[in-house]
Amino acid sequence: YESSWADQWDNNPDVVYDSQNRKSSSSSADKYKQKVGEGLGKTKAVASTGDIPAATAEDVELAVEAARKAFTRNKGRDWAFTSGAYRAKYLRAIAAKITERKSELAKLEALDCGKPLDEAAWDMDDVAGCFEYYADLAEGLDAKQKTPVSLPMETFKSYVLKEPIGVVALITPWNYPLLMATWKVAPALAAGCTAILKPSELASVTCLELAEVCKEVGLPPGVLNILTGLGPEAGAPLASHPHVDKIAFTGSTATGSRIMASASQMVKPVSMELGGKSPIIVFEDVDLDKTAEWTAFGCFWTNGQMCSATSRLLVHESIATEFVDRLVKWCKNIKISDPLEEGCRLGPVVSGGQYEKILKFISTAKSEGATILFGGARPKHLNKGFFIEPTIITDVNTSMQIWREEVFGPVLCVKTFSTEDEAIELANDTHYGLGAAVISKDLERCDRVSKAFRAGIAWINCSQPCFCQAPWGGLKSSGFGRELGEWGLENYLSVKQVTQYISDEPW
Ligand code: NAD
Repeated sequence: YESSWADQWDNNPDVVYDSQNRKSSSSSADKYKQKVGEGLGKTKAVASTGDIPAATAEDVELAVEAARKAFTRNKGRDWAFTSGAYRAKYLRAIAAKITERKSELAKLEALDCGKPLDEAAWDMDDVAGCFEYYADLAEGLDAKQKTPVSLPMETFKSYVLKEPIGVVALITPWNYPLLMATWKVAPALAAGCTAILKPSELASVTCLELAEVCKEVGLPPGVLNILTGLGPEAGAPLASHPHVDKIAFTGSTATGSRIMASASQMVKPVSMELGGKSPIIVFEDVDLDKTAEWTAFGCFWTNGQMCSATSRLLVHESIATEFVDRLVKWCKNIKISDPLEEGCRLGPVVSGGQYEKILKFISTAKSEGATILFGGARPKHLNKGFFIEPTIITDVNTSMQIWREEVFGPVLCVKTFSTEDEAIELANDTHYGLGAAVISKDLERCDRVSKAFRAGIAWINCSQPCFCQAPWGGLKSSGFGRELGEWGLENYLSVKQVTQYISDEPW
């Protein structure tokens, strides 16, 4: 929300990044180090390398004011009243810029949150794809204006306008730092909202780079404001700000519930993408090796720090021993290393706090009587860093903490079942409801089971694939509202009825 942006908007509001004639950029991790810590506004910024500004309530005021001004008080150049096609140009330009800087951004992401470099690079493809996708949807919005409503009286006519909901606060977590931000920023801007993004304090670097990208493509000032800082100091004043019209939150169920409590004071709409404890059901007819691969992927990808991780394995009793052996074999082959090393499949978890928390979950499981069949500690070849082996826990019962609570680390717990009904009951026996997977060659059975899942996402013969065209979100304590697809755009639109009296006769 730096005011220097304003000149760009006033002088040439049509500037859109042009990949053919771009200005050269000295982007690199080193350049970032010089830039971070400069501070924004009246932050408690720390000037040493690698620090990021910690915004306060004062910064929140500035950011909300900038977003509000850009929404409808911007000298007639209000973002809210631009066409979808106009906004799409900016979204496409951002996508092009992200693609161009993919390897640099992926490296920053890997360094910041510890995920393997390959995975971070795939995230950047998804980020660019998501901006492109919402550019298409923004264009499509123009044709959807003034949708007629048929009325029972000829003396009236009525139509519907889809309008941006206003200034939105986007609060995001650290596991897919730039991607989770993009799932909100892209549809919000496509809809015509202006936004304040508050990324996680544990991984904000690529979101700060997004600010650079927006600046380079000439996004009008105030349209997207990125505020780094801590939850209570920056997130809470943002979420409770009276001039914020909607809050879109992704993070833990505990924080989500706090934000809902403060939003309820002002009857403010919220959408919530929260935690999970998702099941994967493996029937007796599966290909053991392929299924072991999906199971490992479903729980250990992104160092196991996925909201939708299928971290509760339900395996048919007739194949349990052999299947778990194959899984252990898979785990032995997972390369655990510096995330920048080639072939790394498991890097360090995000922070010391998260490392301790995961180890505590494992030791509690042990003390409650479960067996740590594989892993459970830092691998022997690494004597420092927040690395945790892929961990498989057996002899679990349904009252144990490890079965019920989200670990958010590379920890899989295993239970057996004997019938389909029992498997479904165990799968649904959770207060979460984000994802659920079923693996079987019997596709009718897969259909039945996927319908029976009490979850927002059901995977058949796979776990975790995610496409920006399809809705994403959960039930129960996993939240409500849907991101991605057309549903993601609707999150940022409101519907206005316009009704006109068209008769010459007196009413
Ligand atoms: P978190 O709840 O600790 O933090 C999320 C964000 O909220 C951060 O930006 C944080 O600074 C902010 N925050 C913290 N306290 C706040 C407050 N009082 N008011 C306003 N903002 C506040 O979550 P996390 O540890 O960053 O992320 C992990 C969690 O996110 C896991 O539970 C995971 O399941 C969930 N998650 C869910 C999805 C999904 O799509 N459902 C996706 C990714 C992560």
